[in-house]
Amino acid sequence: MGGRKVTYYYDPDIGDFYYGQGHPMKPHRVRLAHCLVTRYDLWRHLDIVRPRPARKCDLVEFHSPDYVDFLRAVTPGNQEELSAALKQFSVAGDCPIFDRMYQYCQIYAGASIGAAMQLNYGRADIAINWAGGMHHAKKAEASGFCYINDIVLAILELLKVHSRVLYVDIDVHHGDGVEEAFLTSDRVMTVSFHKYGDNFFPGTGDLGDCGLAGGRGYAVNVPLRNGMDDASYEGLFRPIMTAIMERFQPEAIVLQSGADSLAGDKLGVFNLSIPGHGRCHAFLRAFGLPLLVLGGGGYKVKNVARCWAYETGVLLGVESSMSDMLPPNDYYEVFGPDYRLAPTLAPAKPNQNKRETLDKIRHIILERLRNLHPPGVSFHERAPDALSWEFVAETGLGMATKARGGDADADAVGRGGGGMDTA
Ligand SMILES: [Zn+2]
Repeated sequence: MGGRKVTYYYDPDIGDFYYGQGHPMKPHRVRLAHCLVTRYDLWRHLDIVRPRPARKCDLVEFHSPDYVDFLRAVTPGNQEELSAALKQFSVAGDCPIFDRMYQYCQIYAGASIGAAMQLNYGRADIAINWAGGMHHAKKAEASGFCYINDIVLAILELLKVHSRVLYVDIDVHHGDGVEEAFLTSDRVMTVSFHKYGDNFFPGTGDLGDCGLAGGRGYAVNVPLRNGMDDASYEGLFRPIMTAIMERFQPEAIVLQSGADSLAGDKLGVFNLSIPGHGRCHAFLRAFGLPLLVLGGGGYKVKNVARCWAYETGVLLGVESSMSDMLPPNDYYEVFGPDYRLAPTLAPAKPNQNKRETLDKIRHIILERLRNLHPPGVSFHERAPDALSWEFVAETGLGMATKARGGDADADAVGRGGGGMDTA
């Protein structure tokens, strides 16, 4: 199924953001992935767009204004004065204050919102933002390395045009922030495959959690144990997603492609291979619906980079033409000792998922889905696009370095400043 128009959001500054020494989240991995995308010549098939940073008025579509003001105001230098707010918004520890943190959020959120708009306008069939996928952030709370929930913002944008949006999360962690945001909605179905139990972060996403009130039945959680391999994963993913596509009939799909479900991840506990992870993309792509693909977790940088480069190939339908030996690139030494695109990743954990348990989980979920019906939605009047994006519709989005201009809210990213403390 070739010929799909794929838009790819990338900001060359993203790799400079730095959470701090010893922090597992490294935005640098997105630059590495982009380097491979480029060296594999995938850029020839992609419409590459530099995102327009999201502004406060875009972010408060989901987040509370107080929280956004705080993120904008806090810096490593003044965080002690703001200690009460730090506590209030859970910004500390796993979610440290780092240099130009707000700009970082503006870039990855702006990319996801812009990508959703590309799909809304039919300018792309598939849109990719590897810097996004921050699924843990809440309305007024940072969580799990996530400050702004770009996924929720993108889904809200998609809902302006699409009656039903399907959210699929293959990160090793539960997609709690997105589930919570749409817990009572029947227009967004959230589906998360994740490790559950042993106090694994964030601790939510049990099999019985399936939405509330009007959204009951429209959240699906697939709780798993350590060591999920490709065969066990596909044995759940395919039948569950097939049933959901039939019963929910989404008009657009959002895929959070956290790469911490790969074998050997520093925080993850699954054993997926890169092609196994990528088959989730191929499977969802085959439905031919508008598809927004986002990054997420992933803490062994070299594996994250090759996974997302490979998946960019899958989304273009050209992965079979990507040589397994990596092409020469600026970061070649990082990919040793094998220098391959999809090396065999040694399973770090034995598969603790018993066949009978997985069969039971699948059975329970499929039974529940039998009673599900796609809700009808009538659009009397289409909601306006996110304010800051009006110019996008007029000027077209296909320009790689479109000038950002005319902002009423002058908090656009100032580039070239921030001397990053890169290790
Ligand atoms: Zn994760």
